[in-house]
Amino acid sequence: MAEIRIEKLVKQFGGFAAVRGTSFTIADGEFFCLLGPSGCGKTTTLRMIAGLELPTSGTISLGGEDVTFRRARERDIAMVFQLFALYPHMNVRKNIAFPLISMGVPKAEIKRRVEEAARILRIDHLLDRPVSGLSSGDRQRVALGRAIVREPKAFLMDEPLGALDAEFRHVMCGELRALHDRLKATTVFVTHDQLEAMSMADKIAVMNRGMVEQLGTPQEIYDRPATMFVADFIGSPAMNFIRFEDRLAAGANSVRIDGAEIGVPELREDAGTSELVLGVRPEQVMLTADGGLRGEVFGAEYLGTTQIVTVTTAHGTVKARTSAAIRVERAEPVGLNFRADRLSLFNAATGLAIR
Ligand code: ATP
Repeated sequence: MAEIRIEKLVKQFGGFAAVRGTSFTIADGEFFCLLGPSGCGKTTTLRMIAGLELPTSGTISLGGEDVTFRRARERDIAMVFQLFALYPHMNVRKNIAFPLISMGVPKAEIKRRVEEAARILRIDHLLDRPVSGLSSGDRQRVALGRAIVREPKAFLMDEPLGALDAEFRHVMCGELRALHDRLKATTVFVTHDQLEAMSMADKIAVMNRGMVEQLGTPQEIYDRPATMFVADFIGSPAMNFIRFEDRLAAGANSVRIDGAEIGVPELREDAGTSELVLGVRPEQVMLTADGGLRGEVFGAEYLGTTQIVTVTTAHGTVKARTSAAIRVERAEPVGLNFRADRLSLFNAATGLAIR
């Protein structure tokens, strides 16, 4: 079992709190992404799980054992960094074998494990080559091989694909996920790239300013963002925010904006009278000739089968993803309708979703 449990984790650097009392659990065998903008505390959290950084307070347990104060090398965890330092004067085989040699594993066992890892990563034909001549993708595979041979309880990866170009990154995302499905080891993957997280993770924790704002499956986070921050961070183009004021009681299933009645999922909470924000993903916006929230076409960005139409309204700019077959003219008046079942509503003051 390699469940990782984080409780009330805090990390202060002098007077600055990089991680502010965050708690979450990573299930055994899960591919878990820590996602958030630069500086939100992802790396610091990962380094504490690895044992490379000591928490100011809080606890970390691995497979039910409290490891908060245990040294990194006693944690049975392998770390994969972006710029993994390979030994340039050694060949691929030696680079992969290195951790096992330093652990004193018998030679025959090292040979077996290295060849198995190389086969899984499809670099077995490169084993006797020097690492210096390898492509960046193969170097990354060697780095992964070095982590795999240790057969650790968990893998921790800090932006391991960050140095690769976009196209190859996409390929490596697929390979990493396939590797995970094969090894089934708990994996914690740090990234600021939402597409990377969405495409690979079983669960995503979205971090903001040292706290986890939402933890869920990629679909839960996309469909039901808990905060405006999460809603804005996930999705491209970002979710539209339409500000308005209304009085909403629990049970309400529509809101009024500029005389247009817009259906929303039935509210469980009483929102009272406050400034509210309607959250609408671009693909949930439909253009109509009559009715709906009125606006004017600002422009359209052609994407092949779809297009992003930008509409200006009295409540701000709204982007709609529509079929590219729909013709729109700049400055043309249009109405906006929304798919009621998938909309989000937020309290403008707190940024929290109203459910
Ligand atoms: P990035 O993707 O840019 O690495 P991150 O989410 O991983 O961002 P962290 O590296 O965890 O963020 O850093 C969180 C905050 O803590 C940042 O403001 C950073 O400057 C600060 N920080 C990190 N390490 C230290 C340190 N050793 N001393 C002082 N401040 C630090």
